[in-house]
Amino acid sequence: MTLPTTLDEAVAALTAMPAAVPVAGGTDLMAAVNSGQLRPAALVGLGRISEIRGWQYQDGHALLGAGLTHARMGRPDFAALIPALAAAARAAGPPHIRNAGTLGGNIATAAPTGDALPVLAALEATLIVAGPGGARREIPVSHLLAGMEMLRAGELIGYVRVPLLHAPQVFLKATGRTGPGRAVASVALVLDPARRGVRCAVGAIAPMPLRPLDAEHWVAQLIDWDHRAIVPEALHAFGEYVAAACIPDPAPAEDGSVPQLPPAVLHLRRTVAALARRALGRALS
Ligand SMILES: Cc1cc2nc3c(=O)[nH]c(=O)nc-3n(C[C@H](O)[C@H](O)[C@H](O)COP(=O)(O)OP(=O)(O)OC[C@H]3O[C@@H](n4cnc5c(N)ncnc54)[C@H](O)[C@@H]3O)c2cc1C
Repeated sequence: MTLPTTLDEAVAALTAMPAAVPVAGGTDLMAAVNSGQLRPAALVGLGRISEIRGWQYQDGHALLGAGLTHARMGRPDFAALIPALAAAARAAGPPHIRNAGTLGGNIATAAPTGDALPVLAALEATLIVAGPGGARREIPVSHLLAGMEMLRAGELIGYVRVPLLHAPQVFLKATGRTGPGRAVASVALVLDPARRGVRCAVGAIAPMPLRPLDAEHWVAQLIDWDHRAIVPEALHAFGEYVAAACIPDPAPAEDGSVPQLPPAVLHLRRTVAALARRALGRALS
């Protein structure tokens, strides 16, 4: 395994060995190797690249290194900056996984159950990607998750740029039997008081986080922003609105009747509604 100490060295190593695969904490990659899904010809370890293990400030944003572990993001100083990402990091698997697993690995794996992903979608975060010859380009996280843009050969996620909103943020996750601590549904919700906006993303129920944009705009107008308050009826309706946007009713049948959602899907929809309602209630409390 090659162990570069800078991002550009890592990119150079990957460019020189096109069959090599980058590995950060190894929690996803080794699971794929152990199950026989992946047989990398060589590995480029990212664990010694100190420049991507912390964060820095840049124009009202935080530039988060892709090598930040979930354990590090879960600590109080990070939680004071980006509370929803800290909450997601604290929920991401058992302690040994949080100690090794990284933000960059979570994004690159892009599993529906990736806990950081709905938070990054709600925050409208951007990736800074490092490429050959010191090149840097930016990709909205949502574009990568939607498959609209991909990492090219030799490229690595270097940093994630996240706006610092200085306002309440919440991440909530419902778990089930899909794996140890994996989300069945999750909701990330951030308030943007400067723009009087609410941004919400629902994770785990689709291949990528879903943004219920109409529900966000609708509820933002019902919030008393001076007192950060909302009437209970609107809070309840917001949960239903988010859930119906993400898990719509089936199309009417030819005879005009509306088929019922299967019980498991109905249950999931109720879970999403409860998470969204609770998330907004908590953000405004
Ligand atoms: C038992 C268990 C429980 C888990 N529970 C959860 C959970 O509850 N929530 C959750 O979100 N995740 C969970 N995970 C998944 C995993 O821990 C996370 O996705 C973690 O963030 C992956 O990071 P890593 O550093 O270990 O990635 P790695 O395994 O090192 O890499 C994963 C993939 O990303 C690529 N990669 C890594 N870093 C970069 C980079 N900087 N640029 C480009 N590509 C890169 C690798 O080539 C590889 O394809 C769990 C995993 C296990 C094994």
